[in-house]
Amino acid sequence: MQTVSLATLQRQIAGVSSPTRPVRLLAVSKLQPAEAVSALAAQGQRAFGENYVQEADAKIQALSGQGLEWHLIGHLQSNKAELAARIFDWVQTVDRPKLVQALAQHRPAGLAPLNVLIQVNIDDEDSKHGCRPEQVNALAEAIVGHERLRLRGLMAIPAPFPEQEKRQAAFARMRALFDTLAARHEQVDTLSMGMSADFAEAIAAGSTMVRVGSALFGPRPSL
Ligand SMILES: *Cc1c(COP(=O)(O)O)cnc(C)c1O
Repeated sequence: MQTVSLATLQRQIAGVSSPTRPVRLLAVSKLQPAEAVSALAAQGQRAFGENYVQEADAKIQALSGQGLEWHLIGHLQSNKAELAARIFDWVQTVDRPKLVQALAQHRPAGLAPLNVLIQVNIDDEDSKHGCRPEQVNALAEAIVGHERLRLRGLMAIPAPFPEQEKRQAAFARMRALFDTLAARHEQVDTLSMGMSADFAEAIAAGSTMVRVGSALFGPRPSL
């Protein structure tokens, strides 16, 4: 994976986006030090994605007061939902009713409602979290019933098929699910899909938020 500057990545994203469908860049900073986040923030990047609640907690505290927006993009265990509801601006990995309940219960009253995306296991992989496509509507209804939560859309991590048609088919299924959801809920505006290797394909399929880590930060330090 070649590493590119923030400006180059922004140009690449703009080059494949349509003017009527702006695409936001989420910089995925998991396992990267706070200094690496600061460096990108100094260049104007505002939204950052983290996978691990504890690691994120330390970084968010270290970088508080800079107006950054933090997204949880890793699997959330129910016993970490209380902390997650306090420190994140978005949780992109909501995939079961129990988590909806826990996040709503613990989102502090003094903060804006927590933005949530429903994670869909679009290729039905045993190894992946996320709900099944046919569970999206029920989860969405549960989320909109809580005023401490704000349903914004869907997130997926499709399987990295070598065949382009299979990757495109998964993105297209997500787009269809998203359009159906957006027709039912007017506040739904975010389809989070596409990473370093496939963000251009995801944008072509209708992604509105790409989550890019290694292409921006270089290889991740291992756990
Ligand atoms: C790590 C991660 C990314 C970023 O992946 P890269 O290939 O490094 O761009 C995006 N989304 C999720 C859910 C991740 O866990």
